[in-house]
Amino acid sequence: MKNKLSDRINNLPVSATLAMAAKARELKNNGIDIIGLSLGEPDFNTPDFIKNAAIQAVNDNYNSYTPVDGYSELKQSICNKFKRDNGLNYQPSQIVVSNGAKQSIANVVQVLVNPGDDVLLVAPYWVSYSAIVTLAEGNPIEIRSDISSDFKITPLQLENAITKRTKLVVINSPNNPSGSIYTEKEYLALAKVLEKYPEIYILSDEIYEHINYGIPHFSFAKITSMYNRTITVNGVAKAFAMTGWRIGYLGAPNWIAKACTKMQGQITSGANCIAQRATIAALDAPVSEIQYMIDEFKERRGLIIELLGGIEGIKLNQPKGAFYIFPDISSFFGKTLKGKKINNASEFAIYLLEEAHVATVTGDAFGSPNNIRISYAASKEEIKKAIARISKALAD
Ligand code: GLU
Repeated sequence: MKNKLSDRINNLPVSATLAMAAKARELKNNGIDIIGLSLGEPDFNTPDFIKNAAIQAVNDNYNSYTPVDGYSELKQSICNKFKRDNGLNYQPSQIVVSNGAKQSIANVVQVLVNPGDDVLLVAPYWVSYSAIVTLAEGNPIEIRSDISSDFKITPLQLENAITKRTKLVVINSPNNPSGSIYTEKEYLALAKVLEKYPEIYILSDEIYEHINYGIPHFSFAKITSMYNRTITVNGVAKAFAMTGWRIGYLGAPNWIAKACTKMQGQITSGANCIAQRATIAALDAPVSEIQYMIDEFKERRGLIIELLGGIEGIKLNQPKGAFYIFPDISSFFGKTLKGKKINNASEFAIYLLEEAHVATVTGDAFGSPNNIRISYAASKEEIKKAIARISKALAD
């Protein structure tokens, strides 16, 4: 039968992270012992104090539609969080709560980007940015970085990528997939460039803020000259082990927040009422409540660096945050392993899945064709087992 779907959906790539997770799940269901290191999802339970707030909300009959932009108490908690953790002053009218940070990002792109506008993406970047821009008929423009610069760009690279068509720059620190973190000094240098181009907006994705192993987190909107042009996106999924609860939020200039609410009002309305109440408990709690998870991720980072570092041909950076490592595996391109020729990162990731039964994600999806992403949001036992299998599969 003829494909009757729109060009929009026919041309949309499938999310590589979700596709790999689905493939791993399918193989697992077929009885194959797959170790899933593809998805960026904490393996902890949601902390009890958050679960209890959700139970309380059910018992208190929070069951109606919420305001599209979120409960006012939650928006106040978000303002308090922005002030406490980031030194940012937002009023509740500048806050929009969404169905995950992914929706916050999609809202911003939809309300700012016109067909033909350029959106600058700092590669490696999270897989969905470019698809979200394409859906808005914008042009995703990559600014490339690699392991030699710890996956960070210079002010000159930013300047060289800017054209008359540039509308938005998407930045993400700590970064998914590289784990790199921009220091305050580095962000100030990028802001110096952007000061010359007042028509450009900045979307700062800070979802990994708390998964940080030592470099102080710095919010781009903290730079006075950038505040009125920056949209700060965050959420509870990663820091509070709440991926499935689907609560993200943004702080933005009033007119952008208002437009995001209008957009969301036509597509999904307010986010889930129980999850919103639980998020108030999460954000009101001191950050020390989640330190045990960050400590554990840090230990796992050390473990995976040590184990992967022992495999010849794999080049590593030291991730400073998030729970991913993004090795350069290009030295394997052109080689034949166990009778299979590896030409690129996608074939490398498929090879690991088939030969080692370890699910990772190809760097192509992140705009970085020499790498693969490995999530270490898994137990130490799983990490050890996975890297031992990878090591064996890569041995001559
Ligand atoms: N953001 C996570 C990841 O990169 C979850 C999956 C997704 O939405 O892409 O793995």
